[in-house]
Amino acid sequence: MMYSPSTNPLDHVAIAVHSIEDSASLFELISGEVCSPPETLEAQGVRVAFVGSIELLEPLSPDTTVGRFLERRGQGLHHIAYRTDDISTELSRLAAAGVHLIDEEPRLGANGHLVAFLHPRSTAGILTELVQHTD
Ligand code: ZN
Repeated sequence: MMYSPSTNPLDHVAIAVHSIEDSASLFELISGEVCSPPETLEAQGVRVAFVGSIELLEPLSPDTTVGRFLERRGQGLHHIAYRTDDISTELSRLAAAGVHLIDEEPRLGANGHLVAFLHPRSTAGILTELVQHTD
C-alpha cells in the first residue's frame, strides 16, 4: 500500500441541541460566523447546521441517537471530527491499532461528505468522527 497517512486535522466539533434555530444565534455571536442552512439527514435522524467549525445537531425525534443523547445528558458536546484524505484507509489503520469502530465502512454525512465514527470507549470517552470531504 503506497498511501502514507498525513496528519488528520480537527475538522469540527459537534454540539447536540434541542433546536438549531434557538441555538444558532449564540454560536454566531461567539464566533462571528453565520449559520449554514440546516440539512436533514433522515438516515441519521438529525438536522445539521454549521456555524463555522461548530456542527449543531438537532434530533428529528426523541427516539434517535441524538434524541436519546439529549434525554440522557442534555445539550452539550456530542463528538469531535478529524478530517482525513482517505477515510477507508484510516479506518483500517485505526482498527489494526486496536481502535474500536462504530462504522466499519464510511457512510454519507452532512454536506455529502463521507463519515465514520470511532467508539468512545477507544477515544477517551469522546465520540470521534472521521470525515473525508468530497468537494
Ligand atoms: Zn460531525
